[in-house]
Amino acid sequence: MENCFIIHYSEIGLKKGNRGFFEHKLKVNIVYALSDICIAQPHFDFGRILLPVDDVTHVPAITDRLANVIGIAHYSVASQGDPDVEVLKEQVFDRMKHLRFDSFRIETRRADKTYPLNSMEVNRIVGARIHLGLGKKVVLDSPDVTCNIEIFNKKLFFSCERRNGYGGLPVGSSGKVVSLLSSGIDSPVASFRMMTRGCRVIFVHFHSFPFTEKSSYYNAVELARKLTVFQYRSKIYLVPLAPIQQEVILHAPAKLRLILYRRMMIRLAERIARRERAGALVTGDSVGQVASQTIENLAAISQVAGMPILRPLVGMDKEFIVRQAKELGTFNTSTEPYDDCCSYLVPRNPETKAKLDQVFAAEAGIKNMEDLLYNALKETEVETLEFPSHEGG
Ligand code: ATP
Ligand code: MG
Repeated sequence: MENCFIIHYSEIGLKKGNRGFFEHKLKVNIVYALSDICIAQPHFDFGRILLPVDDVTHVPAITDRLANVIGIAHYSVASQGDPDVEVLKEQVFDRMKHLRFDSFRIETRRADKTYPLNSMEVNRIVGARIHLGLGKKVVLDSPDVTCNIEIFNKKLFFSCERRNGYGGLPVGSSGKVVSLLSSGIDSPVASFRMMTRGCRVIFVHFHSFPFTEKSSYYNAVELARKLTVFQYRSKIYLVPLAPIQQEVILHAPAKLRLILYRRMMIRLAERIARRERAGALVTGDSVGQVASQTIENLAAISQVAGMPILRPLVGMDKEFIVRQAKELGTFNTSTEPYDDCCSYLVPRNPETKAKLDQVFAAEAGIKNMEDLLYNALKETEVETLEFPSHEGG
């Protein structure tokens, strides 16, 4: 009979002075993530969070939801065991005899030093019972099943299915950032990486409707929706870039258009960030991946920013990013066909080494810059997304 979830958190434990603040954020996020499933309240116990199971039919859903709560290192649904190891070994045996496996390991963590046996002794006694009773072999390195026994605060729990979380810091513990979300593979991953550092992410997407179809717009909203499972409430700003692009096309050499589009995006995103009291921008750039992402071009784009631009993927290769996108479930949406506003009237061989003086000269031709920026923000749509959705009760 499973009694409770035992949730371990990672890095939070290292933050001495602020530990209480981080723990509180994590607890609030857990409650929020489960708010449509269970009413049980998590509580702290000896550096862990315990969440009682009030209805076993909820266990699979809770297990799935906890996987997405950032800040959790690992967690398991555990049964309360008897402190008498002779009784405990029978309880573990009764549990493990229903599982299919060839190799196993018992791993005991004794945080409560008043317990009479040390962890090695518990491992040996319980392990021998399983080995002899079920004829399974003990393997210390990557066994099929690991039975974790935890002894803390005069309690003993055991569990055979520990799951890993994403680790990191709970969302909301490090302030707000504005993420430039295209419909591509990279920027959703970049946004997620910032969430794992405790940031609440506000999304901004630029589209070229009516010059292009609205597909990127819908894809971006869908991506933001998928990422909302990690932060529960998101805002996405959908900014029309077409009128600005028209001016850029009129005044800038074709080779520089992409750089100028990007600088406009940064200007607009920064204004949104200031309105939202966010302290930094985020992009999915990775050095050398595409023409716009040379060091020279990144420098020319960054130059216009009055706040830090965070680029969590800057040194990561595409394979890693794709793997993460698949894990997050954003990959399929990102690979759906869409009209990218940045490819709108951009030559096949854009500038790869933008010079600032040429950029400034091109921008100087755009006399009504302030009006253009103002109007783009005036025409911006904002959508709010929530998870879990409480629609319909
Ligand atoms: P992505 O896969 O995120 O689109 P990418 O490798 O295709 O990245 P670029 O298209 O050059 O690279 O974009 C670099 C970054 O600029 C993106 O990661 C994103 O942060 C931002 N960006 C590009 N286009 C848009 C857009 N239409 N709306 C919002 N942000 C954008
Ligand atoms: Mg892109």
